[in-house]
Amino acid sequence: MTLGKNSTLLVAITGGLIVAVILIIGMIWMGRSASQSTVKAVRSVSLLYLNELAGRRKQVVEDTLNNNIATIKVATNLMEEDDLKNLEHLQAFQTRMKKLFKLEKFAFVDTKGLIYTSLGMQTDIDKYEFNHKTISGPEISIKNVKNEDRKAVIAVPVDIPFNGERFTTCFMEMDMHEMLAGVSMTSQDENVTFNNIYSAEGYALSNLVLGGNATEYNLFEAMNHAEFDKGYSLEKMMQDFTERENGVVSFTYEGQEETLCYIPIAGTDWMLTYLIQENVIRDKIIGVNKKLIRDSAMLSILNALVLLGIFMYIMGQNKENTRLLLAKETSEAELRGKQAELGERIVLQEKLIQQSHALSDALTAAEEANKAKTIFLSNMSHEIRTPMNAIIGLDNIALNDPEATPKIKDYLTKIRDSAHHLLDLINDILDMSRIESGRMTLKNEEFSFSDLIKNINTLFSGQSQEKGVDYQCHINGHIDDYYIGDNMKLRQVLINILGNAVKFTPSGGKVDVEVERIACLDDKSTLRFMIKDTGIGMSKDFLPHIFDAFAQEDSSTTNKYGSSGLGLAITKNIVELMNGNIQVESEKGKGTTFIVTVTLMNSKLSKTEDEDIKINPQEMSVLIVDDDEIAGQHAKLVLENIGIASDFVNSGKEAIEMVKLRQARRLPYNLILVDWKMPEIDGVETARQIRAIVGNDSAIIILTAYRWDDVLEDALKAGIDSFLAKPLFASAFMEELQGALKKKRSMSKNNVQKADLKGRRILLAEDVEINAEIMVMVLETREMEVDLAKNGKIAVEMFESHPEGYYDAILMDMRMPEMDGLTATRTIRAMNRADSKEIPIIALTANAFDEDVQRSMQAGLNAHLSKPVEPDALYETLESLIKA
Ligand code: ADP
Repeated sequence: MTLGKNSTLLVAITGGLIVAVILIIGMIWMGRSASQSTVKAVRSVSLLYLNELAGRRKQVVEDTLNNNIATIKVATNLMEEDDLKNLEHLQAFQTRMKKLFKLEKFAFVDTKGLIYTSLGMQTDIDKYEFNHKTISGPEISIKNVKNEDRKAVIAVPVDIPFNGERFTTCFMEMDMHEMLAGVSMTSQDENVTFNNIYSAEGYALSNLVLGGNATEYNLFEAMNHAEFDKGYSLEKMMQDFTERENGVVSFTYEGQEETLCYIPIAGTDWMLTYLIQENVIRDKIIGVNKKLIRDSAMLSILNALVLLGIFMYIMGQNKENTRLLLAKETSEAELRGKQAELGERIVLQEKLIQQSHALSDALTAAEEANKAKTIFLSNMSHEIRTPMNAIIGLDNIALNDPEATPKIKDYLTKIRDSAHHLLDLINDILDMSRIESGRMTLKNEEFSFSDLIKNINTLFSGQSQEKGVDYQCHINGHIDDYYIGDNMKLRQVLINILGNAVKFTPSGGKVDVEVERIACLDDKSTLRFMIKDTGIGMSKDFLPHIFDAFAQEDSSTTNKYGSSGLGLAITKNIVELMNGNIQVESEKGKGTTFIVTVTLMNSKLSKTEDEDIKINPQEMSVLIVDDDEIAGQHAKLVLENIGIASDFVNSGKEAIEMVKLRQARRLPYNLILVDWKMPEIDGVETARQIRAIVGNDSAIIILTAYRWDDVLEDALKAGIDSFLAKPLFASAFMEELQGALKKKRSMSKNNVQKADLKGRRILLAEDVEINAEIMVMVLETREMEVDLAKNGKIAVEMFESHPEGYYDAILMDMRMPEMDGLTATRTIRAMNRADSKEIPIIALTANAFDEDVQRSMQAGLNAHLSKPVEPDALYETLESLIKA
């Protein structure tokens, strides 16, 4: 045992040593290779950096020179005839130009080589490099290149007659330092780099040859004493200077390693150079290397420590194993003792298992019972709906009977209302059972959010108006036209809450809806609906129970308002399925606010994009007239988002003034959006007055949160082209605008596109006699002819036995003996005749489950009406589906 322990220790120490040696060698190798790579990398980065710097400086010098050439040209252009009258005028002109352009010398040269300066004449033309006789373009040269009084000379050819002579050249002189001031020739970056300009012969245009290290004035002379690195030479460099090529040389000068980079300056024979002193770079590299080596050493030590730790752990583990072996032997003895005890326990456990089996059987039974409950509810719903269909249908027919007395009509209306209430109850109970059994699921379909809001607003503005409640709906900020989610369920949520708000708000009160997108992340948006009413409110005690099923604050509510207490329980469940939440604040007698958030998926669809728009937003101008500031600003924002500019005014009076102004300027608005309900002059009157001014130039659309059927005729007479529901949506706006612009004045004849139902032949498949009877009556009311089939099979045969186009539509009950509606529809759609695919088939069903609707659409049904069928809904569906 002792021997084993010792040998483990030995192995551990030897292993540790080997690893340490490998690590140290690796570290040294890594340090070396890193330092070499660093030198290379730093060098190439420095060269890149130098090239970049030189390029930029060169540009600055070239720009300075070009500016000066331009200056001379401008100065000579400023010369007038009077300036050439005599020498005195000429000198005065030169003095002015020198001052104006801050020049040291501004001179002219005549054909004989005489120089005219502002101070007098000069005869030293041979000091200048340009040739006054042959000069043909701008020339830049240096005067006194070899001594410190160097001047940059910029000469351009001119042709100016003067006093019987002629000037051939105009030149200016500039102090070299001043000219290069913008280029900053001195050293920078803590003496790491120097730049300079040299003439082609190597003379420094500033005084610092090789950054001030050399005593010579000439670069080539200085470099004569330099030792060039491999691949570089003075000859090559001089050749580059003469041939005006970019280049770089590395060399040692006075024991200093340097790299010089040069680049020619256009328009001159000068070279711009950059000098970098390698010792400075090297210091930096050494710094970097030191850090690298330090870091890798740290890493190695860390590695070694970790390895040591692992070795220690292994050794510890070894010891532990020995201990465990001992413990095992002891415990085995104890175990034998305990086995007897265990036997008893097993007996007990078996009993437990038996019990849990019994429990699980009970659970299965309960689940089955639950399933049975759901099936029962679904069937019951069907069973109840079938007679309800008869009740509502017959009630409707009786109500329309001209012989019914007012008293009878009153009874019939009460029967209708109770029947509808009963139906709502059945729907709620069905929903609740679906929620309880976890069968409530959400659809994920693209839907038009704008249509949803439009629809809700039409419904509730109508209801509110009837009750004398003020109803408003605002959209804050931007909301897309389309989202992906469950349209019908969202509608149900809004209808539940808004229904309560209107129901519990007495006449004279207000119901406000605000919609806002509060988050838009990745592909999802969270929308918030705030529904505020000034109704009867609720007490603090009741609020915590508001979302419980069958909860009502006051049981008399049921009678007074006709409700079940299920609406909000269902609503809360749906909202939570939509990853949202619902909150309520309320005060007795003051009112209630519901805040609902739901998360929907963003849709790429947008009506304005996928429709063929012939309207060019940039060319449109719109006037918005609304007394409600928020609604007006919202409309403006919606238009802005589609690129249409608009003006916004708060009253009819202002609007009329604006329109007059625009008309006078012959810039009429293309469109005027007028709110209907406004104080003083209302929308219709405003429109009438505007129409009188603009004639046929502008389209006028009325904006309203209310139903407009009642005022349609008045509005058309006032010259209104169309109506738009508030709040404004881009898609609806574009749609309406297109329509309005197209058929501006012909709206009165507009409603004739719908099919006329008179004389149409309908095939009705319905097995329940009384339902069939009602349906026939409903259809015959609009003078349609009806053929009845008692089941799906007969319906198929009847369709087949009649010629193409004989029937205009088929009304198909879903549950029928022999052949059900779905199968019949599929069979008809699969027939090989021209009308089999086209004939509208409308499903009639007592079962309002969403799943059924979906299945019926898949089978090829065009529409789905749930029983009891509302005659108006049926007519509307037939009108829209039958070809006109
Ligand atoms: P229902 O309206 O069918 O009775 P709900 O679940 O929709 O059932 O509502 C439950 C109860 O909550 C209502 O009976 C009413 O007492 C109260 N309630 C809901 N909304 C409001 C509201 N806006 N103002 C006052 N009370 C409300």
